[in-house]
Amino acid sequence: MTVARSFSPGGGRRHVVVIGAGAVGSATAIEALRAGLRVTVLEPNEPGGPQATSYGNAGWLSSHSVVPPALPGAWRKVPGWLADPLGPLALRWRYLPRALPWLLRYLASGWTEARVQRTADALRTLLVDAPALHAQLAAEAGVPQLIERRGLLHAYRSRAEFDGDALGWRVRRRVGIQWNEWSEDELRRREPDLDARYTLGIFVPEAGHCRNPGAYVAALARHALDAGAERITARATGFLVDGGRLRAVRTEAGDIACDGAAICAGARSGPLAAAAGSAVPLESERGYHVVIEDAAAGPRTPTMVADGKLIAHWMDGGLRAAGQVEIAGLEAAPDWRRAGILHRHLQSMFPALAAGASPAKHWLGHRPSLPDGLPCIGPAAASADIVLAFGHGHVGLCGSARTGRLAAQLLAGVAAEIPLAPFDPGRFKP
Ligand SMILES: Cc1cc2nc3c(=O)[nH]c(=O)nc-3n(C[C@H](O)[C@H](O)[C@H](O)COP(=O)(O)OP(=O)(O)OC[C@H]3O[C@@H](n4cnc5c(N)ncnc54)[C@H](O)[C@@H]3O)c2cc1C
Repeated sequence: MTVARSFSPGGGRRHVVVIGAGAVGSATAIEALRAGLRVTVLEPNEPGGPQATSYGNAGWLSSHSVVPPALPGAWRKVPGWLADPLGPLALRWRYLPRALPWLLRYLASGWTEARVQRTADALRTLLVDAPALHAQLAAEAGVPQLIERRGLLHAYRSRAEFDGDALGWRVRRRVGIQWNEWSEDELRRREPDLDARYTLGIFVPEAGHCRNPGAYVAALARHALDAGAERITARATGFLVDGGRLRAVRTEAGDIACDGAAICAGARSGPLAAAAGSAVPLESERGYHVVIEDAAAGPRTPTMVADGKLIAHWMDGGLRAAGQVEIAGLEAAPDWRRAGILHRHLQSMFPALAAGASPAKHWLGHRPSLPDGLPCIGPAAASADIVLAFGHGHVGLCGSARTGRLAAQLLAGVAAEIPLAPFDPGRFKP
């Protein structure tokens, strides 16, 4: 089914270049066309391909994921996580000198509950109706079946383990998020394959899931092209700015003359933002996935387990487990032992998998993360014609739909539909 939503023809059309066609860039291209702009999509690879973080994520459209990863007291837990070779967090020691300033800012941004609440208040404005926005985009792009809106589950081993996350749930409650508690019996009934060590379920009905993020992004990009966007297969390298006005996006294949640009290159946006006068502390929180093609057991509801901090659910290609945070930069080789950790944990979540369930595929991706857990959405320092739209960390698939609308509003010079101050690229002081 394709849902008709109008694209304005836009008479004297302002020409904008969308740099990167991941989830954020593809949504931006669609919304910029809808705003009447002439759009060129600049992407060196296949939109939605494995180079994009949007390809291999867990698919959660978790409008309730408003709590930043670093919480008060996180600094006390970090050494334990780092010392645990099977833990959810890893740091390559050689990379520590480069990562240290980012890590300190990351811990500081979650130092008090008040700071966490500020982040949550802002993120909620970005994510609140994400499942509905994605359902609309997917229908428009002809792939409505890829978006499911059946809620998401957090599984805990005990009430005490849940109480350990009390701050996060308290903050979520304050921004209006509701959930249902599943007792041990109800959890067994609803998730019969889940290991018996999990005895408490927290079910969030408002959230959704994408069954195939790579195919979804590819469909969005195709939809933008069908609606009139041009595609150039090249890598952006910088900008030609004259008197505060953007004249061209520089690429490896020459300059593209334009009036506006959006930087949507995910974890690789840092040098482009710096070239636009806005150096921001963007870091890759590397993550992995494994897929078991013919899994004999798995969840009924997309599930995150508190002990392994991984998400498991069925995707079009099989049972996928995604998670892990590894701080090692963009260029270090993958450490596939971390995918092995996910695989073993997945087997322990669903004991019926243990025999013979070997992962068909491994993948490494780069969460584009800013230390305060909020993306950059706003004009660049060198020219308001250049819009920064990246840095969504753990929630970039979920947050891409509204970010696309906001980036298009900035490119078109109309008022943004939510306050953008919390996402201001200028918020990072040296
Ligand atoms: C293991 C894991 C699990 C995750 N789970 C979830 C989840 O369940 N839900 C959720 O919402 N988020 C999740 N995320 C985070 C989410 O995947 C990212 O935040 C999101 O995909 C970022 O999208 P993006 O469009 O900004 O970047 P990307 O998807 O990385 O797209 C950037 C694009 O820019 C292109 N590009 C790069 N450099 C240039 C250049 N110079 N010129 C032109 N193009 C360029 C790239 O080729 C790429 O196609 C997860 C991430 C990981 C790693």
